[in-house]
Amino acid sequence: VTRDHTVLTESKGVRSAPTLFCPAHREEPLKLFCVSCDQVTCRDCQLTYHRHHRYQFVEEAVSSQRQHILSLLEHVRQQHERVKKMILELDLRSVCLLGFPFCFLALPISQPHRLLCPPRETVGIQRSSLSSS
Ligand SMILES: [Zn+2]
Ligand SMILES: [Zn+2]
Repeated sequence: VTRDHTVLTESKGVRSAPTLFCPAHREEPLKLFCVSCDQVTCRDCQLTYHRHHRYQFVEEAVSSQRQHILSLLEHVRQQHERVKKMILELDLRSVCLLGFPFCFLALPISQPHRLLCPPRETVGIQRSSLSSS
């Protein structure tokens, strides 16, 4: 993913995302990221509304987020490996279970079929109501 992203930005010749300006302070670019509020802010916002909040420069925030995502991906990959191992183990166990087919032969096949059939009385009522109309 990272490799594709680099190629894309290089081919377009764009250094970074287009500058966005603060809706409250139209002169100020949104170049800060308030970590406490989890949103982008401008310098003025950070000094007023987000005073005493923890903040980063957007570029820093992006790179730290990327690191975070990469570590999450690594975690997911490890989980995936673990699950794969578990499935393999379960497969082996189910093969062992299939070695005893008498469990399947003992199932009463006729019983559920009988339950699915509609009662004869209901069918009779429906027929008589249709013929009278
Ligand atoms: Zn602002
Ligand atoms: Zn804030």
